[in-house]
Amino acid sequence: MSDSLLSESIQNYLKVIYKLEKNLEEASTSDIAKELNISSASVTGMLKRLSAMRLVNYNSYKGVTLTKDGKTLALEVIRHHRLIEAYLRQSLGYRLAKIHNEACKLEHYVSKDFIEKITEILDDPKFDPCGHPIPTKDGAIPTRDESSLIEFEPIITANISSLNDENVELLNYLDDVGLLPGKKITLLEKSPYYGPIRLAFDDKEISIGHEVAKMIFIDKKSVKHT
Ligand SMILES: [Zn+2]
Repeated sequence: MSDSLLSESIQNYLKVIYKLEKNLEEASTSDIAKELNISSASVTGMLKRLSAMRLVNYNSYKGVTLTKDGKTLALEVIRHHRLIEAYLRQSLGYRLAKIHNEACKLEHYVSKDFIEKITEILDDPKFDPCGHPIPTKDGAIPTRDESSLIEFEPIITANISSLNDENVELLNYLDDVGLLPGKKITLLEKSPYYGPIRLAFDDKEISIGHEVAKMIFIDKKSVKHT
């Protein structure tokens, strides 16, 4: 493996371990293999390497966690990824559903100067276009108290804080109708038994399904009962 491919691969491992660790406390070899779509055997080889570089704490029986240095590097990659997403969206007009894959490719190849330049152009954003926090240069992560729209009862007004970005088709739909982070919405009606959910925003009303509402997150501080 060439140096740049090796570092790209290391960055992807650190990112995945960070994500798994956040959700499950620690990452297992099989979970990492699943996320990266490669065999457990090659994951084991790489984990030994990362452990020798003191980027992870690796115990073959328990799983893996990031060291302080590993976490710093992971947060830097995530910062670059999310800033690139913001740039693709705001400056280049990308569709929401396209930015993630593009950022996954670009994040390994942009220079620090490029990142600083786009940070300046974008006025140092705190959140990416899907509303996920962008780690600061010092590795701090902006926090916000949010819950899925499905957990609220009508009638309330609130601001959308983030969108689950795992489903590309859903993102395209939300992009088309304009249900995006920052948008103020009114939850008008929630039908029983997983029925439609009626929303108002921008002087229009739409009904969305239960599954869609689960993917939309609301800034809890913005909630007002009407
Ligand atoms: Zn992304």
